Amino acid sequence: MKKEILIRFGEIFLKGKNRGFFEKTLISNIRENLKSYNVQIAKIPGRYVVKNYSEDDEFEIIERLKKIPGIFSFSVAYCVPTSMEEIEKASLDLMDGLSGTFKVQTNRADKQTLSLNSMQISAEIGGKILQKYSQNLKVDIKTPQIVLNIDIRENKETYLYEKVIFGVGGMPVGTSSTGLLLLSGGIDSPVAGYMMAKRGVKVSAVHFHSYPYTSNFAREKVEKLAKIISAYTGNMTIYMVSMTELQEQINAKCNSSYMITLLRRGMFTVAERLCKKFGKKMIITGESLGQVASQTIESMTVVSNVVKSTPIIRPLVAFDKCETIDIAKKIGTFNTSIEPFEDCCTVFLPENPIVKPDLQKTLKEQSKIDFDAIIDRAMESIEVVEINHD
Ligand code: ATP
Ligand code: MG
Repeated sequence: MKKEILIRFGEIFLKGKNRGFFEKTLISNIRENLKSYNVQIAKIPGRYVVKNYSEDDEFEIIERLKKIPGIFSFSVAYCVPTSMEEIEKASLDLMDGLSGTFKVQTNRADKQTLSLNSMQISAEIGGKILQKYSQNLKVDIKTPQIVLNIDIRENKETYLYEKVIFGVGGMPVGTSSTGLLLLSGGIDSPVAGYMMAKRGVKVSAVHFHSYPYTSNFAREKVEKLAKIISAYTGNMTIYMVSMTELQEQINAKCNSSYMITLLRRGMFTVAERLCKKFGKKMIITGESLGQVASQTIESMTVVSNVVKSTPIIRPLVAFDKCETIDIAKKIGTFNTSIEPFEDCCTVFLPENPIVKPDLQKTLKEQSKIDFDAIIDRAMESIEVVEINHD
């Protein structure tokens, strides 16, 4: 019997006039993601189907579909031409060898082809199953152990399945513009990137290093994290930018308690310049209010002050660390994030970082170095790394 994967999409339904664009983007994302498998992906009214795949690839395809934003749920289904005989045959086949309580649930998108209504189809097929497997199976309408779903679609095909596998939901990547993620090697920023990809943002990243104070290991770790989240975001470009000169200059000339404030102003200045240069529409960070000295509202205000016309999105701003960790574990970044590494923020770490910086005092400290020229040189240090989700 023919097996196909029946895909249901989520919030796309809410999009009214834009629905065509959302659907097209999702199907092209699915195609791109499954391109190394020899499969056919087709659209049928209200659903997508993956067909002609090799049984050996089924597990991997399922794992991939679970991570594509915009997919609400999917099922591995038997697919038969819509007729009572075919549905009966497939139902008996599917229930063969199962035991416990069951019910049949029918959904008819196509109300023309069969003369029976949904309830009648369920009753009819349920009766046949009972006739054949009465030793192992019993009907329980309220709390069945097994639900046999019969989905009668408008393409004159009927899909029969037992399990519904949930995807990440959200919106297809590419339907909510583009963003630049400040990606460190920590726990929070990969989660922030995942969350925005789930809202449909095409995410690129910038990583700031202080080579040679930070090692290549820190960089490899960031690439490894990007590779993990690329299962959700799709291929990702990372801009690697050196903050070495800025940190050295701050260290030599400014009040050390302003190190992090000034460094972060440098990071956000570079981030906005990258957004302008590469057409990214938002800056995304993993900041969470009050988590550390640099994430008080005063710090965020003084740092954000360098960004003139790009929105800064902080998807984790109201999260407790443990909530972020739960997501990091779910998306598979946690174990990599907790590997030891030096971030450029931890090089030249001041003993008393200022917790509530004042803008005027910060500007006075900043004026002790040639901030703009240092940023210009940082922009020249950019290296581009392409992370492919393969
Ligand atoms: P994370 O777990 O993401 O590293 P954190 O709790 O360590 O976050 P901070 O070091 O204060 O917090 O950084 C706050 C945010 O600033 C990060 O979530 C990230 O978006 C950005 N950031 C920090 N360091 C870097 C870096 N070296 N390169 C790029 N972005 C960075
Ligand atoms: Mg960090």
